[in-house]
Amino acid sequence: MTHPHDRALPRALRQAMPMARDVLVEVAKQHGVCIRPLALRRLDIVTGRAEIIDVPCGSTLDSKCPPCAKRNRQLRMAQCREGWHLDTEPAITPDEPNEEQRWLVEFRADMQAKRDAAAQAGDDTTDLDAVLAGLDEEINAAGMRGSVTGSAVPKRSRSTRRRQDAPDLPKRKMTSTTLGRTFHSSDGKVYRPSLFVTLTLPSYGKVRDGVPIDPDAYDYRRAARDALHFSKLVDRFVQNLRRVAGYDVQYFAAVEPQKRLAPHLHMAIRGTLPRAEIKQIAAATYHQVWWPQADEVRFDGDHLPVWDEQAGYLNPATGEVLPTWDEALDALDEDAEPLHVLRFGEQVDVQGVLAGTPDADQCIRYLSKYLTKSLGDALDGGQAQRDHAARMVDALRYEPCSPTCPNWLRYGVQPKNAKAGMAPGRCRSKAHKPEHLGYAGRRVLVSRKWSNKTLAEHRQDRRTWVLEALGQADQPTDPHRYIWRPIPAGDANVPPLAMRLLRTVAERQRWRAHLRELEARATGQDLSATEQTGRAA
Ligand SMILES: [Zn+2]
Ligand SMILES: [Zn+2]
Repeated sequence: MTHPHDRALPRALRQAMPMARDVLVEVAKQHGVCIRPLALRRLDIVTGRAEIIDVPCGSTLDSKCPPCAKRNRQLRMAQCREGWHLDTEPAITPDEPNEEQRWLVEFRADMQAKRDAAAQAGDDTTDLDAVLAGLDEEINAAGMRGSVTGSAVPKRSRSTRRRQDAPDLPKRKMTSTTLGRTFHSSDGKVYRPSLFVTLTLPSYGKVRDGVPIDPDAYDYRRAARDALHFSKLVDRFVQNLRRVAGYDVQYFAAVEPQKRLAPHLHMAIRGTLPRAEIKQIAAATYHQVWWPQADEVRFDGDHLPVWDEQAGYLNPATGEVLPTWDEALDALDEDAEPLHVLRFGEQVDVQGVLAGTPDADQCIRYLSKYLTKSLGDALDGGQAQRDHAARMVDALRYEPCSPTCPNWLRYGVQPKNAKAGMAPGRCRSKAHKPEHLGYAGRRVLVSRKWSNKTLAEHRQDRRTWVLEALGQADQPTDPHRYIWRPIPAGDANVPPLAMRLLRTVAERQRWRAHLRELEARATGQDLSATEQTGRAA
């Protein structure tokens, strides 16, 4: 336990103890220390020792903690730079279940147990739910598909019949390379051109300074649905791009907010295609959402479906069981229309970029510029823009965000995995929140063969939050050695945040001192190694 007279703390920090909390937070920020650490109890089953460990809050890019957000942004810039103009095929190791994945799943199981116990005791589970949602994201990021709870249901055979046609586009013969072509100039120099592409969504009505000129005429419903399904449209674009390019095109893309609060996409693409072809691909790309109808309101206000333990949700007036999600999908017959069709807008920007030029650097900075902001943060245009955002949130309130969204009850369908207590307008998914404005997907999209790091090295940035907390960034963790438990808020065993921040800052200082020592020893021997340790610090 840290104490003002603790000798382990540097003198400067001991003196700093009475500092106001705000100042302390600033100090922590300067040292790159997470200011919103999550305290967890870790039991070491080898030694039997229990410890309280602070885990950095942010492995997510929309983290509100500046040090975590900054570290994430730097990692992303490094990753973007590394892959863009690669001249040798990346070494890709085959996917296999790995320690990190098992670790995450076990950890999640522990947290779930805790959450269920809290729910049974009638306690508020908001915080634990948030932790679980974060873990689910981690688990997906670690390369496992689906979620742990959302049982891996076999794909409906029906959906294959609704496969979208490939749009009418030129198609080159597929080669197995991921590298773009190079060009030789007359003086023998090799050029490695690549692309920087910006794709936007269509117009929903005239805007000035990001605000609709006529809010009543602005198509908020369309804007909401486009934002909800935007990532699918991006997937389609990549599929089409690869088909036309004839090679395994790799990309690093960032989804960013426009002033009008619609998501748009910046994409660094390895290799090059004619500008006209990129525009043709963007124009031909579309995505259809084959969901039940969500335009005709069937249940509203006090007239809401009622839950029955055996049958699920019932029509409150007739007692009739509402169709389940699968039944509703099966009812879409051959001439059904998709709920929604997405396309890109006409504004497509394509820039050719050469490796190692200032242009390339500028694009990389641009790609990571807004990563630490959420979509709703684009707001800076005063009251008119806040009103615009509020109308967008309104439009999203009753839009179903996923098959499990409670909003389906409004349109007479039982959400997938329906359970008691669901009500339209009460979905807790990120998509409905003002910070996300419909787009709850990943902000950075990186294709698998982007950079030449091994899979383990790539994983490093996802593991950072765990490994850093363990103070063993370079050692693999035995996933079975520790049992983790969340600590309820207000637990007397957890020192006040100020103490914990101080301790981490002190740790960081010792760590730096150690690195400097190593550097001093290495001086003159290997400059590049010195540079690397310097960066790691
Ligand atoms: Zn943090
Ligand atoms: Zn929802």
